[in-house]
Formats: sequence, structure tokens, C-alpha cells
Amino acid sequence: MKSFKILSYFLSLSAIGYFIFTTIYDKKEKSLFEQPKLVVGIVVDQMRYDYLTRFWNHYGEGGFKRLVKDGFTAKNHHFNYVPTVTGPGHASIYSGTTPAVHGILGNDWYNRVERQMVYCVDDLNHTSLNTSSSKGKSPHRMSVSTITDELRIHHQFNSKVISIAIKDRSAVLPGGHSANAAYWYEGEQDGDWISSTYYMDELPDWVQAFNAGDSSEKYLKTWNQLKGAYVESGADENPYESTFDGEESNAFPHEIGELWSKNDGFDILKDTPFGNSLTTDFAIEALKNENLGTDAITDFLAISFSSTDYVGHEYGVNSKEVQDTYIRLDQDIERLLNVLDSLVGQNEYTLFLSSDHGAMHNSEFLRDAKIPTGKINKWQIRNELNQSLKEVYGVNGIIENVDYNEIVFNQDVLKKHKLNQKELTSFVVAELMKRPEIEHVFTAEEVHGHNGLNRMKNLVQNGHSLKYSGDIVFIQKPGYISNRRFGSTHASGMNYDTHVPLLFYGQGITKGSTVERTEIPDIAPTMSVLLGISFPNGTTGNPIKAVFDH
Ligand code: ZN
Ligand code: ZN
Repeated sequence: MKSFKILSYFLSLSAIGYFIFTTIYDKKEKSLFEQPKLVVGIVVDQMRYDYLTRFWNHYGEGGFKRLVKDGFTAKNHHFNYVPTVTGPGHASIYSGTTPAVHGILGNDWYNRVERQMVYCVDDLNHTSLNTSSSKGKSPHRMSVSTITDELRIHHQFNSKVISIAIKDRSAVLPGGHSANAAYWYEGEQDGDWISSTYYMDELPDWVQAFNAGDSSEKYLKTWNQLKGAYVESGADENPYESTFDGEESNAFPHEIGELWSKNDGFDILKDTPFGNSLTTDFAIEALKNENLGTDAITDFLAISFSSTDYVGHEYGVNSKEVQDTYIRLDQDIERLLNVLDSLVGQNEYTLFLSSDHGAMHNSEFLRDAKIPTGKINKWQIRNELNQSLKEVYGVNGIIENVDYNEIVFNQDVLKKHKLNQKELTSFVVAELMKRPEIEHVFTAEEVHGHNGLNRMKNLVQNGHSLKYSGDIVFIQKPGYISNRRFGSTHASGMNYDTHVPLLFYGQGITKGSTVERTEIPDIAPTMSVLLGISFPNGTTGNPIKAVFDH
């Protein structure tokens, strides 16, 4: 009798053990093969890392705080190339590599093969829908695949990819080559979301209906501080900020409803936090009408919030307008997450959030704060270089172009006057090094022959194409900025431009954070591992291991 009791005791113990074991095993099996129904990629244009921490106490529980507390934060996340601007930023996030590989070398850049300025997503083979004015757009200048392309290919093109942003380049590049649709905003006329014949012949009914409603009109209202006087930013009225046409002061309130007719019509919304709210409204409409994330095949919604960049350029890093824009964006993100919870399901989607570049403080603000700073003017550099070249060589127009800190020689002039490029290069390098605003100068050969630890050279190498970029590259001093009076700007390799947030949230993501250095090209391979799909074909980044550690 006693031995029977002991036997049954052991039997029930092992049954419990078996149950626990199979449950854990099941869970592991599940997590190995289960994919989210939807991936949401969010890029916040011009979001510095410290916007997460500086405004933290004003954020609600359902937006940024939810992503950070229940997700994974990379606290030391950087761009690893120059120039740090929007087109290259979006292309690098989605392709897992840098401009040297994906070919998006700037927003506009001087293409030495075509011998003209080119815009990153203009495509003369296509036209824009619903507008008479603008050229067609496509990702034809991006020479690699994106994570959105690889997802489409992996699922035999049954995955749906929709990409949305106010800026055309921020919608087109994330969608990759095979997106079902990319939409961007045209404010000059009726305030419409538009697309290009690259994707479709006409806008879907739901987009036309959205445009026909009062979707833009309802935001022509007063812009005031949502949560009162902020102490995390500078005085509201100050000499570092711009004004709208028709405004006396750069302080709140900004009467958008009265100012819009003097400020490019509905385009004024781009320069306010309402541009992000409008983007959120449209993204939610896309989720509903395209049935994203409602079946077993993973879909992808790419959203880029552009207004943070426009507001940053107008008002600057330390402004109350930037702070208010982030507090309002936090509410828009909360609204989006709530819709995702109800339409797709909690823990049925995976989200990442990052930025396309940071921003520098206004130069006058830095000067007043006694931080080293100054201005750099590419037109002045070009004219003065051509002048001193003329004095020595007696020839006009030897420098064809100066842009994104890159100098291109005019090959016709060199040939005609039998000038030696090597000799000219040494001369120009010496001239540039004399300038107080310039810290480093590299020749194209130096940049590409380089294989070492010099951080600045690495940044230049990753952003430079031997075929299409300049003959000589210069780097300005820290705190030096293009000649701009108001607000902020960006493009350099300094930490203010390279350090941005990276958050992961949702299915398959471990809660936690890392202070190890991670880089922008790591995002796409990290998401590829999570989805079990091929890395984009030009990927040079690496998956961030800590995101998967359990
Ligand atoms: Zn940008
Ligand atoms: Zn910008």
C-alpha cells in the first residue's frame, strides 16, 4: 500500500514535469517559427536620441514610454556615414547598408556621370497622380533591395507593403522597388495624398475619399503649447527662430488658420505638428482599407513622420515648438498603437522606430552658450577656390561643383587646357586646409584606399561613390553648419547628427536595452532575422543580438 502511494506520487510528479516541459518546448517551437502579422516601421525625421529623454516626463504611458518600457532600446545607435540627410537615411534603414552601396548619395546630389544635380526619387519615366505640377517618383536610383522587397519576394508577393510619409522620398525609399503603394502629401493645391504611375494608374477609392473629406482642412487651427510652459526648452520668443510669413513674433500661439493662405496653402501643415497627425490619420485609413495584418502572411506598413524635420529646421533643437511637436507626436503614436491593438491584435505585430539623422543646435545659440561653432558656405568656397586657381593657372571654372562637402573638377576645362588633375588636387587640398572652417580634407583615392580606424574617413568612405561622387571631400569643424540663420540643420558626421533612437517593440522582441554601439545598417538585418527572410542584397550591417536574447 505504502509503495503504491509512493509510486502514484512519482507518477503525478513526472506528469507535472512532462506538462511543464512540453509547455516550454511548445512555446519555444512557436517562437521559432511564428511571424508577426504586420511589421510597422516608423522613421521620425530629425529625431535626436535626447528627444526621448529630454521630453520623457511629458510623454504619456501609451506612446514612446510604452515602446521603451515594453520593448527594446538601443541607446548608442548611430549613422556610420556622411551626409546625414533624409534620402540616404531612409534608404540605409531599409536596405541595411550605406550610400556607398545603395547609391542614394544625398537628397539632391551632383551626379558626375550625368553632369547635373539629381533628386533622389525623381523619375522622368513616370508622372505623379492627382497633380498637374510635379514629376513622377520612383526608387530607380536605389541600386539594392530593401527589407520590404525581401519580404514581398519571400511570400511570393502576397505580403502587402504600403509606405506613407509627407515627404515623397521618405515614402518611396522605404517601400523599396516592389511596394504595393507609396503615398506622400501634396499641400500646394488641395492638400491631397498622392502617388506615382510607378505604383498604380489611379489612386484607390479610399485614398480619393480621404482626400475629398476635410482631412487637411480640420488642421487649419491655432497651434499652442499642449501642456503649458515647458522648462525643458528655451524662451519662447528668441533670436534663433524663424516666423511664418505674416507673423510678428516667433512665439506661440501660431494662428495656422489665418496664416495658411500666405504660407503655401496646405503646405503650412508640414511645418506644424499637425502634419504628423495628418500622417497618422492617413496611416490608420490605410490599415483599415488595405486590411493590413489580418491574415497569416506578414504585411509591412512603413510610416515616416516628416513634420518633426520641418519644425526643427524652422525653430531649432532648443525650441518650445520642437518640444511641443514631440509631445503631440507621442499622442499620435499612442493613437496608432491603440488602432494596431484592435485591428491586428496585441503582440501580433512588430514595430521598430528610428530616425533618418539628428540635428545640430542653432549656431547663434551655441555661440551665445560659448560652445565652439561657426558657419560654412559652399558657394563661397567654390568661388574662392576658382579664383585662386585662376590666379595660378590662368583658367576659369576649374571647379565644376561643390555640394555635400564634395568638390568636382570640370573635366572639359582640364582637358582643354591640358591641366594635370594630380597637381590641381594638391593645390586645392592645400587651399582648403588654410580655411578656418575646415578640419579635414581627403582625396577620393585616399577615401577608397583607406582601411583603418580613422572614424571620419570611415564615415566619408561609407557615404562616397568613386563613380558618382566628388574628387575631393572636406569635413568642417565640429559645430560648423551651413549658412543658416534660424532653426537647426544636419548632414555632418558629428554625434549631434549621428546619434538617434532605435526602439523595437512587439512580437519576437526581448524587453531591455543596450549601450553597445549599434548602427543604422543593423536595423534591416535584425528585422530579417526576426522575419526569417533574406537580408536585403547589399546589407553590410549585422543583426543586433541583444534584441533576441531571452
Ligand atoms: Zn530628414
Ligand atoms: Zn532636414
